[in-house]
Amino acid sequence: ADPLRSPLLEVKGNIELKRPLIKAPSQLPLSGSRLKRRPDQMEDGLEPEKKRTRGLGATTKITTSHPRVPSLTTVPQTQGQTTAQKVSKKTGPRCSTAIATGLKNQKPVPAVPVQKSGRASGVDPIKTPLTFVLSVFILASGGKKPSKRPAWDLKGQLCDLNAELKRCRERTQTLDQENQQLQDQLRDAQQQVKALGTERTTLEGHLAKVQAQAEQGQQELKNLRACVLELEERLSTQEGLVQELQKKQVELQEERRGLTSQLEEKERRLQTSEAALSSSQAEVASLRQETVAQAALLTEREERLHGLEMERRRLHNQLQELKGNIRVFCRVRPVLPGEPTPPPGLLLFPSGPGGPSDPPTRLSLSRSDERRGTLSGAPAPPTRHDFSFDRVFPPGSGQDEVFEEIAMLVQSALDGYPVCIFAYGQTGSGKTFTMEGGPGGDPQLEGLIPRALRHLFSVAQELSGQGWTYSFVASYVEIYNETVRDLLATGTRKGQGGECEIRRAGPGSEELTVTNARYVPVSCEKEVEALLHLARQNRAVARTAQNERSSRSHSVFQLQISGEHSSRGLQCGAPLSLVDLAGSERLDPGLALGPGERERLRETQAINSSLSTLGLVIMALSNKESHVPYRNSKLTYLLQNSLGGSAKMLMFVNISPLEENVSESLNSLRFASKVNQCVIGTAQANRK
Ligand code: ADP
Ligand code: MG
Repeated sequence: ADPLRSPLLEVKGNIELKRPLIKAPSQLPLSGSRLKRRPDQMEDGLEPEKKRTRGLGATTKITTSHPRVPSLTTVPQTQGQTTAQKVSKKTGPRCSTAIATGLKNQKPVPAVPVQKSGRASGVDPIKTPLTFVLSVFILASGGKKPSKRPAWDLKGQLCDLNAELKRCRERTQTLDQENQQLQDQLRDAQQQVKALGTERTTLEGHLAKVQAQAEQGQQELKNLRACVLELEERLSTQEGLVQELQKKQVELQEERRGLTSQLEEKERRLQTSEAALSSSQAEVASLRQETVAQAALLTEREERLHGLEMERRRLHNQLQELKGNIRVFCRVRPVLPGEPTPPPGLLLFPSGPGGPSDPPTRLSLSRSDERRGTLSGAPAPPTRHDFSFDRVFPPGSGQDEVFEEIAMLVQSALDGYPVCIFAYGQTGSGKTFTMEGGPGGDPQLEGLIPRALRHLFSVAQELSGQGWTYSFVASYVEIYNETVRDLLATGTRKGQGGECEIRRAGPGSEELTVTNARYVPVSCEKEVEALLHLARQNRAVARTAQNERSSRSHSVFQLQISGEHSSRGLQCGAPLSLVDLAGSERLDPGLALGPGERERLRETQAINSSLSTLGLVIMALSNKESHVPYRNSKLTYLLQNSLGGSAKMLMFVNISPLEENVSESLNSLRFASKVNQCVIGTAQANRK
């Protein structure tokens, strides 16, 4: 409380504020409910304080009316002063208080105006104070004017005054009581002020707390708003999700319906299938029984078939043997475009004992001897040379016709008998044509090698049905001037052929291999074609290096055949050799021997030597001599396993139809005839 403030004013304020102040504590916000309050409500809580402030403001106005000094002190010291002083002494501040109270904020009436209302000058000194007192009382008693008495009526006037005094005393008494009451109230008020002060402090504390709480609340509110925003956002996302899921659910329900119908359909089908299955099972059972019976039958048949196959092989071999283990076929090539037409009767093909329907086996060559004709002076009749071979193919014979004759022989290789086919003859007589085929890849002109291999592949395929498994490995080498070169060489070795050696496959082994030569497994025509193509390329490269070498060398195509019947534990294997021999022509003895010719002579000697060795080997085998000169040439050494014993041999003697080649043709036919007379002992299959 302000110590300068007047206690009375405090009282007034307190009286005015009494009710709201008592009520105030109940309006304080409760700690439990403060967060629920709105800011305006919180201001309401502050209202009592404001009201009180206003109340105090109101009292401030009243301050000016507080009588400090009795106004009567300004009264001039006249005749009635003593009385007035007496009165003022008796009434003292109480009276003045009463006056002040009665006047209610009006300024004390100064003595001057009273004088003015009276006489202007020469005023009665006795009368004047009385009039003043009277007027004061009149004023104090609510403006009630005492009845006028004449001036002379002093007694009456005194009486009036006494009455008035009495009233004043009563009034003073009342005022005293009132004062007492007011002082009590003042005390109460001061106490209340004190209480209110403490209460205010408490309330201020509360207020601060509440404000802090409010701030905290506001912060929390902010946080909560953010939270709410976030949650709303999440809610919207979730709602979107929910909508999506609902859509999906609808789709899935649709799908489910579809699937259910499908399932039903499937179930129906399943039932049908089950019925079919049970009937099928019964059928299967009966079929099984049948199968068992058939399997037994099949085994029996297989057994018989195998027996028959072995019988076929035996008979086949017997047939081949009857045909001869050494057979000679003579083939005369046609006259090529641009070549001179030979005189008629140069080569004749007399028909066999069975007439023209029999396949020709005979050939007659007529040669006119010029020297004899010169001696007699007239042209001598031509000398006729007759030859008979296992088969003679006149110029018009096709490749297929030729192969037909040897297909059975080739098949013997599958049965386990070594087979060797030669092409013998002078250069240009058709050896390469017979072995490899004509130019241009015309299938009609295919030679023995591709045809033989195709035949072997197809027969092997047929035999696989009887449990036989065959494998074929091909090699192709060239023997030139007693050196062996690989015709299947690839890469850097291509064309060069490299140095190859003929060696035994292993110590004590009968098998021979050519070192540095490629052995290529083959299983189809395409692969064989590729090999022949490669060999042709290799030969062509060699030809540019050394003139026409291909006709001066032996080409040896070898196929290692291995067959196996695993369930019976049978194995068979034999080599098939297809040899394109070097040109058998002799060197013209009349030729001058230059350095090139000398080389040619050496070449020819090597060829002649190897060809005659071949003849000698065949002869030795035929005569069953103890020594067979295989080692005398690389060719016979390489072919030794394909020549003796169980081997079957076929020699094509190729003849040129031209007159200029008659001499060489005769030589070839003579050589072939000698071979044809040979019979190599009973061949035996190489059964392991
Ligand atoms: P060689 O190998 O004996 O030296 P070739 O096989 O090269 O002889 O034949 C020489 C030429 O004669 C080649 O052009 C070849 O096509 C052709 N020729 C050989 N024999 C026949 C034949 N039976 N039918 C058609 N042309 C042939
Ligand atoms: Mg040739």
